[in-house]
Amino acid sequence: MLISIVAPCYNEEDVLERFHEEVQKIADELLPLGHDMEFVYVDDGSRDRTLAVLESLSVRDSRVRYVSFSRNFGKEAALLAGLRHASGDSIVVMDADLQHPPELIKRMVRLRAQGYDQVIAKRTRTGDHFTRTLTARLYYRLINRMVDVELVDGVGDFRLLSRRVVDAIVNLTEYNRFSKGLFAWVGFPSTTFEYENATREAGSSSWSFRSLLNYGLDGLLSFNNRPLRAALWLGMGLLLCAGLYTAWIVGAALVNGVQTPGYVTIITAVTALAGVQMVMLGVIGEYTGRIYYEVKGRPHFLVKATNVERTKDLIP
Ligand code: UDP
Ligand code: MG
Repeated sequence: MLISIVAPCYNEEDVLERFHEEVQKIADELLPLGHDMEFVYVDDGSRDRTLAVLESLSVRDSRVRYVSFSRNFGKEAALLAGLRHASGDSIVVMDADLQHPPELIKRMVRLRAQGYDQVIAKRTRTGDHFTRTLTARLYYRLINRMVDVELVDGVGDFRLLSRRVVDAIVNLTEYNRFSKGLFAWVGFPSTTFEYENATREAGSSSWSFRSLLNYGLDGLLSFNNRPLRAALWLGMGLLLCAGLYTAWIVGAALVNGVQTPGYVTIITAVTALAGVQMVMLGVIGEYTGRIYYEVKGRPHFLVKATNVERTKDLIP
């Protein structure tokens, strides 16, 4: 049995060597149990020495495969590249910053042996900032009402996938990739276990509050058209309110005679309706934008350097 470790790396020169040492240790422990290991590192257009580190790792350890992007294409693209280049029977996806404890790989492999296609590590939120925990909880409550797949708080990319799951995911060619949702969409027998969240070893997280917000919106929008449906309902609700209000004003005018003051009502109606229309346009625009990207059919990433022979992705 071959196990592939897939790790996207963006500006990880500080931890990469340490990471590799850690997973190597796990590989040594798994070898007697009949598991070989390969390491697939994807350099997502890092601006530091990540690629140099990867090159030297690959010289020292023949099990290392690396793929380096021509620029930063984002973690989702890096994940896809990693999965495409992994040849294992089981594939472990994890971050290169040691926030995903390599120790857990052994547990994943054991669970895989019980027949699960996806073994998912769910991180607890102990040690997280209070506001982040709260927003995450609210977000997941909201989003699970909106999307068809079940998204779980604390469940991320750290998981072991069987060959058939990886094949299924690699064959989902959509441009807007929200892998959390893709994993859930693919399905197959899955199991989850919890682990304590570790803080980053070195370097810094590339997530700002804004990018988290955008990520949240992506999750909401890339899985179905329910926001469009919501816009429709909102529009109909507003129309009903407007009808009732008009009837009330006309009725009042018939009974009491015409009373002109109504400045506040008019301004409120104009601004509120304009706002609602902008939001709805935004929702439609989001979907149109996604269609635009899909239709262009551009590749998810371009490869500048790799030690994987016969890759289809290398641009000469
Ligand atoms: N990453 C990447 N491309 C990016 C941003 C991040 O490949 O544009 C990688 C990064 O090297 C790390 C993983 O994705 O291995 C998770 O990133 P990060 O630690 O910044 O996110 P967090 O752990 O805070 O969610
Ligand atoms: Mg991290």
